[in-house]
Amino acid sequence: MSRVERTSVLGVPVDRVDFDGAVAHVEALLDSGMKRQCVLAMNPEKVMRLKGDPALFEFVSGAALLIPDGYGVVLAAKILGLPSLTLVTGVDLMVRLARLAESRGFGVFLFGGTEEANRGAAESLARTMPALKISGRRNGYFDQGKEHEVVALINQCRPDMLFVALGSPRQEAWMRRFLPQLDVGICQGVGGTFDVLGGVARRAPKAVQRLRLEWLYRLLADPSRAKRQAALPRFAAEVLRERLRTL
Ligand code: UDP
Repeated sequence: MSRVERTSVLGVPVDRVDFDGAVAHVEALLDSGMKRQCVLAMNPEKVMRLKGDPALFEFVSGAALLIPDGYGVVLAAKILGLPSLTLVTGVDLMVRLARLAESRGFGVFLFGGTEEANRGAAESLARTMPALKISGRRNGYFDQGKEHEVVALINQCRPDMLFVALGSPRQEAWMRRFLPQLDVGICQGVGGTFDVLGGVARRAPKAVQRLRLEWLYRLLADPSRAKRQAALPRFAAEVLRERLRTL
């Protein structure tokens, strides 16, 4: 079994992997026959949230893979003199995992997003990866109390990989509650990825991504994110405080 090295940023765990390492780790997990292995994304917002939510912290800490999905986390590791981290974005990892699924014959299930985004994401994957086995899909809107129907649908489809796109922290809370009942190999929390894959939302242009300003692009495109992104200056302040403490 491949292993990944785990470090921690402000007391919150995160893995030292790159894309190849992350894909290899997932492949090894699936080949070993292990079930219900979580792949979750770490970014400054989540680090701040987990510090104030012990139950979620415990669940997240038990994940098989915690990818450094926000540049803020990578930069914080640098500033704090921690072992270096590589940016592994959740959206790009999902596409890489879908390619793995296509080449190895693993089935995938897409859960979450609006019906338009969900269908669009499935169509886009099917177009670019014609041999991909899409075991099933379901949008992320359902009445409270109907969760067991979603769980039953996923289990009927028996996917090896389940991608959950309900946004954070909703998707982590959903996984924490329902993963024990799910017959899946791995489960990746992918946030707003189906919106991007399905063509409902546009990702920042490559130049903006290279400048590490994707968060700013998302904020300008959707100002309602401002409340969530208020965690960013708090995160930066904590990193600086920690740095000064260790001078
Ligand atoms: N969403 C959903 N069900 C809900 C609420 C949200 O499926 O009850 C989806 C929504 O359609 C969107 C995603 O969750 O596709 C949230 O995207 P966001 O960009 O906020 O997530 P992040 O990547 O920032 O966690």
